[in-house]
Amino acid sequence: MSLGTHLTMKLNDGHFMPILGFGTSAATKVANSKVEEATERAIGAGYRHIDSAYIYQNEEEVGRALQKKMADGTVTRDDLFFTTKLWSTCLRPEFVQTILERSLKKLQLSYVDLCLIHFPVALKFGEELLPKDTQGRLIFDQVDLCATWEAMEHCKEAGLTRSIGVSNFNRRQLELIINKPGLRHKPVCNQVECHPYLNQSKLLNFCKSKDIVLVAFGALGFDIEKEWVMKNFPVLLRDPVIKAIADKHGRTPAQVALRYQLQRGLVVLAKSFNEKRMRENLQVFDFQLTAEDMETLDSLDRNVRYYQQTDFCDDPNYPFFDEY
Ligand code: NDP
Repeated sequence: MSLGTHLTMKLNDGHFMPILGFGTSAATKVANSKVEEATERAIGAGYRHIDSAYIYQNEEEVGRALQKKMADGTVTRDDLFFTTKLWSTCLRPEFVQTILERSLKKLQLSYVDLCLIHFPVALKFGEELLPKDTQGRLIFDQVDLCATWEAMEHCKEAGLTRSIGVSNFNRRQLELIINKPGLRHKPVCNQVECHPYLNQSKLLNFCKSKDIVLVAFGALGFDIEKEWVMKNFPVLLRDPVIKAIADKHGRTPAQVALRYQLQRGLVVLAKSFNEKRMRENLQVFDFQLTAEDMETLDSLDRNVRYYQQTDFCDDPNYPFFDEY
């Protein structure tokens, strides 16, 4: 980690990733214009790592926000670390480059800093994000993830993305890629749900042993407005133990949840479209949780997974049946 204005983590391919990122995924009811405004405000507030994805369906607006902040002199392209992800309908190796080029065009960028395989399950290729048969069942596709990975390696070598990684992969799926004969580029990261109720300690240890960064999403306990988030689970930021630690440090539960991940060596994403909370989430570099606080937070782990994508569970590559 370097101690600059924007703390970064060195990736296994030599590039640097800011350790706190801004999430651009929103509930369907949130207008894309709000995402555009929020992304502009986030860059204005100081975020330099922006996390996006094709499936968020807002790449044009997010791209416009980046362009505006570059045009008004707030940032240059080099100041930003920008991530996109290949959705499950785009995993056929022959389409990977074209799909990434389509995202770049929408974003008005010539490259992204990071491109991820969004989820290890493949769906039928096409315009529909969740292709279904006449009985309303998802149509899966048989795709060799190693072949998709080779197409990703090609995109990196072609300069369309500086780094490549995965998301929602379990240990077995990560091993499949890193043990692939002829591997040219290892995944730099695995972006997964991670918070005190699902602290991913085993996956974290495995990733650290392979020099793969774990990037935490849902670190604030997820946006429960989203249709695909499991309801009826405890609300992380209302946890009395987290609240007590926050009170002790004169901080908020959200700041404690973010700081927890940073002290464990993760990169952490935080989404807020509210300017006050957005700024609050950036104030996590000027306090330290004690070893005892960290142990107490570790003890909250209870296998609460807010993001399960259960409609994918009939596919053999569904990642969440393995222990980790
Ligand atoms: P987070 O866990 O980051 O945030 C959850 C909710 O917390 C937000 O909706 C926000 O609402 C609220 N919040 C934010 N800051 C505070 C605060 N200081 N105090 C109280 N409440 C707060 O949610 P996400 O689910 O969006 O995850 C973050 C990002 O991770 C996504 O935007 C996306 O980029 C990525 N992601 C990746 C996935 C993958 O499969 N790879 C899956 C899901 C997410 P408000 O806006 O009202 O402040």
